[in-house]
Amino acid sequence: MRSAFVGRRIIMSENEEKKTGWEACDESEKERIMAFADGYIDFINTAKTEREAAKEIKKIADENGFIDISDAENLKPGDRVYYINHGKSVYMAVVGKAPLTDGFNGVGAHIDAPRLDLKQEPLYEDSGMAFLRTHYYGGIKKYQWTTIPLALHGVVSFADGRTQEICIGEDESEPVFLITDLLPHLAAKQNAKKLADGVEGEKLNILAGSIPDAEAESDKVKAAVLRILKDKYGMEEEDFTSAEIEAVPAAKARTLGFDGSMVAGYGQDDRICAYPGLMALMSINGIPERTAVGIFSDKEEIGSVGNTGMASHNFELFMMELLEKTGIVSPYAVQRAFSSSRVLSADVTAAFDPCYPEVMEKQNAAFAGKGININKYTGVRGKSGASDANAEFVGFVRGVFDAAGVEYQFSELGKVDAGGGGTIAYILADRGMNVLDCGVPILSMHSPYEAASKFDIYQGYKAYKAFLAAE
Ligand code: MN
Ligand code: MN
Repeated sequence: MRSAFVGRRIIMSENEEKKTGWEACDESEKERIMAFADGYIDFINTAKTEREAAKEIKKIADENGFIDISDAENLKPGDRVYYINHGKSVYMAVVGKAPLTDGFNGVGAHIDAPRLDLKQEPLYEDSGMAFLRTHYYGGIKKYQWTTIPLALHGVVSFADGRTQEICIGEDESEPVFLITDLLPHLAAKQNAKKLADGVEGEKLNILAGSIPDAEAESDKVKAAVLRILKDKYGMEEEDFTSAEIEAVPAAKARTLGFDGSMVAGYGQDDRICAYPGLMALMSINGIPERTAVGIFSDKEEIGSVGNTGMASHNFELFMMELLEKTGIVSPYAVQRAFSSSRVLSADVTAAFDPCYPEVMEKQNAAFAGKGININKYTGVRGKSGASDANAEFVGFVRGVFDAAGVEYQFSELGKVDAGGGGTIAYILADRGMNVLDCGVPILSMHSPYEAASKFDIYQGYKAYKAFLAAE
């Protein structure tokens, strides 16, 4: 069977491989791809939690002339503003020439990632060792989180109103943390279990100390750890109850492969779309035709819930403030803006893994190195919980990408009956926007060390940039 060409994207048959994007890449394009990936690697090494990502995004925005929307009295075309939502999600806009009621062009990614949160009362001692109990966040394969170096990131808030940041395990000079696993010699019963049951949630306890406090009467190792916490962070044991401390892989993101073509690192879902989205927004010169919006949301991995998740009405508040400060006051202006808006839900999809071809239908799979990916629809089995973009909107996006020379591909997340997934897309679509899922394909999604192609990351940047500028 012959390949049919549609735009720049090749429709392949079962027996034909799509060409990797590297093949048509000249040296100068390769240099741009590699340089962009260097910036991305720095970003994900700095932003390992949603709070750190929000902080880094704000810092980059500040450097690029954005201001907090609450500091602006009036806004005019070309003005650049952001709204920091409880320190964990960020909304941004570059005000366009057209009124916001004509709709905005947006790119929406999320900045939370699967991890292990400390429980509210985490610290205990057993057999001369101190441990921290955890509660996993997001969809993880629990066995992957044992016997890897972990770092602790987060905050502890005190009853007197102070909040103390905690970050330990990232610097080479600092200790790391670890969850133990059973030695193979004694793991016969564990090995016989189903993979999902091999390591239970209550076994994900972090080894955190072993020197006793000689003066303590009991639980001497725990007492010694508490003394260190008191000295270092001024916290008592009860302060854990108002802390948010996340255990994340301590390993740094690195370039992957002999040819340096890929990135390996933690938290690439979804900072691998957040960073190109942010850079696309930062690259806007002058005044865009339509208002350009960036969304960096939290809690996507647990259903976009809460006041920092995409379902939060604080996004409406940001819109209302944009409308009011650009002189539009009407009771239905927000809904008018939403229903005329276009958004790319910038979230990762599964890259085809040749070691596990059985979960994919190859003709409708995304491949690492073959461009940014479009999922017309997501959802599970019979499109349950899907966001399904209108054909007209998919056509519009294809036109924008073709004109900008973006390499892109279409896929579904796995075989129809194999499972599925979703993004923030449906929440934006519920509000009336035209939304399409469009993100970077990654390997080993939700693992402590995910992998992706630098070619695709750069296509993400080109795609989001072209989309934000579309008239
Ligand atoms: Mn995601
Ligand atoms: Mn995810």
